[in-house]
Amino acid sequence: MTDSPDITSLPADRKAQLLSGQNFWETEPVPEIDAPAVKLADGTYGLRHQSGRHDHLAVFESDRATCFPPGVAIGSSWDPAVAARLGSALGKEAVAQGVHIVLGPGINIKRSPLCGRNFEYYSEDPLLTGSLGVAFTNALQAEGPGVSVKHFAANNQETNRQTISSDVDERTLREIYLPAFEQVITQAHPATVMASYNKINGVFASANPWLLTQVLRDEWGFEGAVVSDWNAVTDRVASLLAGMDLEMPGGSAAHDDDIRAALAEGTLKSSDLDASVQRIAALTQFISDQPASVDYDAHHHIARELAAECAVLLRNEHHVLPIPENVRVAVIGEFAESLRYQGGGSAHVNATRVDQPLDAMRDIALEHGVAVTYAQGFSIDGAGADPALLANALEAARRSDVAVIFAGLGEVVESEGIDRPNIDLPVDQVELIRAVADVAHRTVVVLSNGGVVSLEGWHDNVDAILEGFLLGQGGGHAIADILFGRVNPSGKLAETIPLRLNDHPSSLNFPGEQGHVRYGEGVLVGYRYFSTFDTPVRYPFGHGLTYTQFATSDLQVQLTGEDTAQVSVDVTNTGKRAGKHVVQVYVATDSGPVRRPERELRAFSKVALEPGETRTVQLELPRRAFAYWDVQHGRWVVAAGEYRIQVADDAHTVVQEHVITLTGDRIVTELTMDTAMGEWFDHPNVGEKVKDALGFSAAEVSPEHLAMMASMTMRQFVNISGLDIPTSTLDDLILASRPD
Ligand code: BGC
Repeated sequence: MTDSPDITSLPADRKAQLLSGQNFWETEPVPEIDAPAVKLADGTYGLRHQSGRHDHLAVFESDRATCFPPGVAIGSSWDPAVAARLGSALGKEAVAQGVHIVLGPGINIKRSPLCGRNFEYYSEDPLLTGSLGVAFTNALQAEGPGVSVKHFAANNQETNRQTISSDVDERTLREIYLPAFEQVITQAHPATVMASYNKINGVFASANPWLLTQVLRDEWGFEGAVVSDWNAVTDRVASLLAGMDLEMPGGSAAHDDDIRAALAEGTLKSSDLDASVQRIAALTQFISDQPASVDYDAHHHIARELAAECAVLLRNEHHVLPIPENVRVAVIGEFAESLRYQGGGSAHVNATRVDQPLDAMRDIALEHGVAVTYAQGFSIDGAGADPALLANALEAARRSDVAVIFAGLGEVVESEGIDRPNIDLPVDQVELIRAVADVAHRTVVVLSNGGVVSLEGWHDNVDAILEGFLLGQGGGHAIADILFGRVNPSGKLAETIPLRLNDHPSSLNFPGEQGHVRYGEGVLVGYRYFSTFDTPVRYPFGHGLTYTQFATSDLQVQLTGEDTAQVSVDVTNTGKRAGKHVVQVYVATDSGPVRRPERELRAFSKVALEPGETRTVQLELPRRAFAYWDVQHGRWVVAAGEYRIQVADDAHTVVQEHVITLTGDRIVTELTMDTAMGEWFDHPNVGEKVKDALGFSAAEVSPEHLAMMASMTMRQFVNISGLDIPTSTLDDLILASRPD
């Protein structure tokens, strides 16, 4: 970052003014130091720049921009290169439209499938989320504008999002909800971080000194500006003191007055404003003075190419896909001619154009000698079953070799501001799928939805399922390319598809009650829970088929330093088509004092292979891949012991395993009279001496007896045992127990 202009000498009153925007989308210009206004606009998967009337929920139209695949699709690509291409294209559009800070990426964890904004977020896994966020941020910022990585933090639902307290224990925050932010901040240096609406353990994120100063700045070294989510600030003075720099949108005279009053009272000093006004002024470095224009046709092409990397082939019985030449295809479902391709709310993009699957299929069909008929089947306006539409669809299905049904959810169901009540497809669509599958020779279902939908009640009736999620404006073309085999699908699930919503670990505590949502499942989020409890799922995290096959062999793991390792594995494309495979490396361990999930994704890489080609893929496992957050010591700890390094096809299917032993950290905790006896016995410095001092080394005190007294404190033991243990002996042991 370049030097920021010195504005600390401005009068305090003026500084107060600079701490919020001048309007909905711009910061205050500072003519005193020649600093122009900085313009912000939404953009997790496409730019929402409103040059006309403005709002934060896309009620008013924004300027045309390319609608790239939303977060749910990018997550399913499992490919940082895809996120980078999106970031780069988005950055170019931002420059062309005069936007300096793009409000994305959205990197909140998908805690529940019901969250209305899951379509904008990447995954239920922090490493996958963080890696995509890093790629997006680096690529976008390389074009000149800055990003705002959002929504910091623990903003995992829309219900009561402006008031809810996410009640999360620290280990869970550190291991699940913060790491993606940490990764983006430390590896991609975003211009800004957006503080979320919600509270964390009772304190608003936008006024949370632990979050915004201790963790974000002191621990992670963030040097950019913290921006509030739109209208998130309730107490301007508290938020300023917590480290929240820029309040957006601007125009709240009341908050400026609060700052002035605090200055007058002396609860705030003029210098308390300096760091924030400097950080806000430094955002002018993201203003590009280069004139730029965008080739929107070329960007549409990119949108298509990216979409083709993201769709997930869930099922493909009898190799029904790709659709062969010279067959009759019945295309059924209104989404085929009116594709659901993005979500609602502030992310909503006014797309430059939209490819429809039906048009794209007809184009390809001409070349393939395929006959395509179309039946609407159902109405996407949610009007319910229509017997005439159903009858036409069945007629078309009967006369076809393959029926392709386009099903999914409407945009009104999945949007910012609301969570879904369930994960079901509309009943009329389920009935249609079942009826078509009864009469069609082969049935394929293509799904369009922002969050996962249940496949129960019809999954076994159909031959193939292509989960398109939301693919952006090029999605229609990408889907047709995959259906006809012009593209080999390579997406993998970035979130689990459960059998039932009630099986999901978040179900007991979502969306909370009376102002609080308890993250009761702790670190066992998504697949971490399902794999730990062996709970059957419909499709696990990481699942996704292709039109070829891959074999994984020769896993080798080398220790490379203090508790770090390098994984090497061979991947071969054993099929007949070129394709892409995602090497997924999980780490599993029972070592250490805390309960670990069955396995956790710790490295991944997507590789492209020609038929018959073998590639050796190498991946690094840093210390953090083995660490847990130790709440007693307030830091990351690698426990000594065995670690299973697993290469898996998905979170439930391990194909190669190698066990390593790590030295780990030597954790020494000072003992007190109120420490449990178990900890005295196990203490690395004095454990054996304790047993000697109590006369417990002799064989007559069995391990069972030691275990029975393990939870008693030393004070209680001394009181009840009647043993005459000199106080000086205990004092000496306590002294010797101190960490070096
Ligand atoms: C959303 C943010 C968005 C902002 C501005 C808020 O409602 O939560 O993600 O950037 O509006 O539109």
